[in-house]
This record gives sequence, C-alpha cells and structure tokens, in this order.
Amino acid sequence: MKTVQAQIDLSALRHNVNLIRQKLPESKVYSVLKADAYGHGSVRCAKALNDTVYGFAVARIEEAIELRDAGITKPILMLGGFFREDDLNLIERYALEFTVHSQWQIDALRTYSSDNCFTVWLQVNVGMQRLGFNGDELDSAAAGLASCASVRKPVGIISHLSCADDDSLKDYNELQLAEWKRMTDGWNGPKCLSNSAACAYFPEKSTEFVRPGITQYGISPTLGKTGKDMGLRPVMKLSSEIIAIRDLKPGDVVGYGASWVCEKPTRLAIVAVGYADGYPRAVPSGTPVEINGRLAKTAGHVCMDMMFVDLGAGAVDKIGDRVYLWGTDSVSVECVAESVNTIPYELVCHLSDRVEFVYTDDR
Ligand SMILES: *Cc1c(COP(=O)(O)O)cnc(C)c1O
Repeated sequence: MKTVQAQIDLSALRHNVNLIRQKLPESKVYSVLKADAYGHGSVRCAKALNDTVYGFAVARIEEAIELRDAGITKPILMLGGFFREDDLNLIERYALEFTVHSQWQIDALRTYSSDNCFTVWLQVNVGMQRLGFNGDELDSAAAGLASCASVRKPVGIISHLSCADDDSLKDYNELQLAEWKRMTDGWNGPKCLSNSAACAYFPEKSTEFVRPGITQYGISPTLGKTGKDMGLRPVMKLSSEIIAIRDLKPGDVVGYGASWVCEKPTRLAIVAVGYADGYPRAVPSGTPVEINGRLAKTAGHVCMDMMFVDLGAGAVDKIGDRVYLWGTDSVSVECVAESVNTIPYELVCHLSDRVEFVYTDDR
C-alpha cells in the first residue's frame, strides 16, 4: 500500500451528477472527464456514470481513446476539436465527436472522404476569446460545414462562458448570454452552452445539452463557497499518515527556512505527504487538516515528502494515524485552494503518481 491515498467515492460522484440532472431535467449531460476526470480517474468515473449521463467530454484525443479502449461506447466529445488534420482518421476509427472552431478544420473536413459521418459542434465565441467563430463569421462557417459531405446534419452549436461562476462579473456574463442568444436564435441543430457554474446559477438558460465538470466531483466552481453548500458530496478524500511524533518546547523552530517558531509546549506530527505528492508547498502555517475526527493545523513549510502538523500539547495521536488533507466534512479542497490563491480544479488535477487511488462504490 502506498502512503498517500486518494479515496474516490463513486457513489458521491453519481449523487452529484444526479443532483445536476434533477435541476435540469430537460438537458442531456456530457460529463466532463478531461484531465483524467480532474485527477479522479477517467475510466473509473466513466464506468460509474455510464448509465447516468448522455455522453462524456474530454480535452485531448488520447483521453477519448483511453475511454474507448476501456469499453466506453457512449458519445465522447472532444471539447477543443482536433488539432491536426491527421487526427480525423483516429476520430473516425474511434467514433468521436468534436467541436469545429477554425476555418482550417472546415477545409480539412471538406476534403476528408469517408463512408461515415462525423457528429460535430460548431463552436462560437461569445466573449471569452478562446475558441470559436465570432458573430460575423457564423454564417459562412455554418455554410462551410453544411457543404461537407462528411458532417452529419443538423450541426450542433456550442460555446463557453468565461465568468458564470463570478457574481461580481454579472454584467459581462449577461453580455455573453445575450451574444449566445443572438447567435443561436433560429439555429436548427442542438445547442450546448452550460458548464458547472451556468448549470448551477442560470438553470433557466440551460440548453438541450450541458457540460458540467467540477460540480460532478463535489466541488464548487465559485470562490468562497464549497460543494457542500450546494448539496454536493466531495468525491476525493486525500490522506496520508503520521510517521513520527516529537515534543517541542518554546523556541523550537520548525522546518526549512525556520519559518515556524514554537510558542508553547506542543506535540508535532511529521506526516508523509509533500509537494511531490501534490499537496501544495505554498499552504501557509495554520492550514487545517483532520486527524482522529478533529482539526489540527499545519506548521512551517511543506517539504517534498513530508509536512508538519501541530497536534497540541498532550495529544494522543499515534504513529500510523491517518491525516486527512482535503475532502472531509471539515476540510474542503476549496478552502485549501483558497489559502494558496488558486482554484480547487488545480489541486485535484495535480496529484502525482506517488498517490494511490482507492475506489469505493456502495452500489
Ligand atoms: C472544462 C470545461 C467544461 C467544464 O467546466 P467546469 O467549470 O468544470 O464545469 C465545460 N466546457 C468546456 C469547453 C470546458 O473546457
């Protein structure tokens, strides 16, 4: 058994996706499994959700192929489209769906000859300036796709909002929603807009297809809020164990850089997890962890393979006791992320292969 464990609760994953679906009973869900299901393991997550969702969405062709090779037969959408003309052969072989956001892709599709038809989504830009055709390019792009024999009709239309998660940017979000409406009113194919935040905060704007990512994993898309506040259950619980305990006296100085000074007698746990496992080095002293059902605080800088936890004077915790770093009721990954000025997406994606994944499912 490896020391650092990510317990992945597949029942919680299904609970979360069912909650999203209950809120949007009219919408079909592409479950976003890019980046190895945000670090949770895409094949296991896909199998757990297979009967619950319409299809899956990924960022890279190799992520799609991994799912197909594991036996997943549902639709798989490549959110960023194909990056090279050559990829069309693999896309056909693996029966993948993809977005089309650039003229060169339409040109490639026009000259591709095949007995099969591709299911494609015309990507439009409503304000993020990442991928997609602008409003004044829409008609010619749509006509270009319509003229491709290899493309199934009607073609879907898809876009992405840049700040649905942030109420302080409400006006810019409204502008993007207005642009989406302008571009898609009268579109005769399926529509797909909402990410997690849009599903949660603008359910009335939801389209026939939606693409939730982070909320499936029980994590809030919005800073200052947790998944728990939204009725979600954390899917990943990250833990390690105490490998040494020492008593400190006032004046003892802990860790690299001598950044934490002991003020009153206490016990210090050395815990076998560090930034090489994916726990961020930048967490400040005082970041909460959970040990034996109570909260304790980190002390000093996180090392590559170990970190320090102040257990308090007289603590009775033992070597081998587990220390939970996030994913419990009292320590959320949202709060750890906030303490290092990032978003929880980044933390769950960044676990290293030193971490053992343990899957549970009470189905
Ligand atoms: C990652 C991604 C999503 C999912 O976003 P969440 O914020 O995790 O819900 C949806 N659509 C696109 C295009 C994405 O890149």
